[in-house]
Amino acid sequence: MDIYDNREFDGHELVIFGHDAATGLKAIIAIHSTALGPAAGGCRMWPYATTADALTDVLRLSRGMSYKNAMAGLPFGGGKAVIIGDARATKTPELFAAFGRMVDALRGRYVTAEDVGTTTADMAHVSRVTRYVSGLGRSAGQAAGGDPAPKTALGVFLGLRAAVKFRLGRSDLEGLTVAVQGVGGVGYHLCGMLATAGARLKVADVVATAVERACDEFGATSIPPVQVLEEEADVLAPCALGAILNARSIARLRVPVIAGAANNQLARNEDGEALRAAGILYAPDYVINAGGIISVAREYYGGTEGQVIEDIQGIPARLTEIFERARRENRPTSEVADAIARERLRLEAPRLVA
Ligand code: NAD
Repeated sequence: MDIYDNREFDGHELVIFGHDAATGLKAIIAIHSTALGPAAGGCRMWPYATTADALTDVLRLSRGMSYKNAMAGLPFGGGKAVIIGDARATKTPELFAAFGRMVDALRGRYVTAEDVGTTTADMAHVSRVTRYVSGLGRSAGQAAGGDPAPKTALGVFLGLRAAVKFRLGRSDLEGLTVAVQGVGGVGYHLCGMLATAGARLKVADVVATAVERACDEFGATSIPPVQVLEEEADVLAPCALGAILNARSIARLRVPVIAGAANNQLARNEDGEALRAAGILYAPDYVINAGGIISVAREYYGGTEGQVIEDIQGIPARLTEIFERARRENRPTSEVADAIARERLRLEAPRLVA
């Protein structure tokens, strides 16, 4: 297992592997860049098949956080942590305290928070041993913080409206159909906002109760998970998994707009060009889904809920700027977003990997 030759290695500043015999902790923290501030990004807990898979994931995710934080104008660099393990079986408070000690040893170069497989309760255990953690329960009054999912959903909703305006020339969502893939933490809240705005919802999830809740509360129509990427709609909102946009799925899409929360929606960079060529407007994932990290940042630096909302309202303008530049330069929106992020990080163009 080589780090420097890993295809996801991108000049990362630091990668550390941690182990704690008493709790069984096996974790990797990757710091991609601290050019704009301490590296911030969540801690994912996942039963990776191999350590090499975990390393690849943490390298890719930490670079993504550099881009996301830079685009959102946050005083944060990019980092990420992964704990190798099954979140449903092997979690203990001591395991998260051991992870917290690993974070603390970096003395603030990395700030952690929750991600897939970890919760605000887990971060509370981390916070027993380090102050370099955010995404904790909401403190009293108007202080920023708590579960980032509703904030992510708000940013996606505002970004989706901007994409509709740009591609379809519509200033409202009344009567438009939105297919939502995944109605978990973010997808559920997004559906609520879309329904209030008069959109018709088609929802898919592998968890039947999640679909039922969206149908009952928002009058959504249920569609099978295998069908959602081929569903005819005005907008597709991916809010479940990454890498869903690939050569095969793009050929079958029947939507003019893609705007959703999922991280790493493009399987490969080239898929951005395939979407452009197909006339599909793609809202780059890390630009539209920045609401959660905006909330985490305001919580960490001690801001208010009002400031979080104000910051999130900047997302549609950033997207529109990307859409306009992509149209002017006849380039994929994903490529334009990456170029802007890299300019802000002052990184060179990515190296070509054979
Ligand atoms: P979540 O786990 O709460 O919800 C995901 C939902 O997708 C679940 O209900 C799950 O059953 C469903 N799902 C899984 N596989 C599916 C499939 N094949 N077809 C349809 N549905 C499927 O996660 P979340 O917090 O809502 O995050 C959703 C996505 O947004 C993830 O990709 C996450 O990385 C990204 N994201 C989340 C946040 C946040 O603040 N939570 C911030 C930025 C990005």
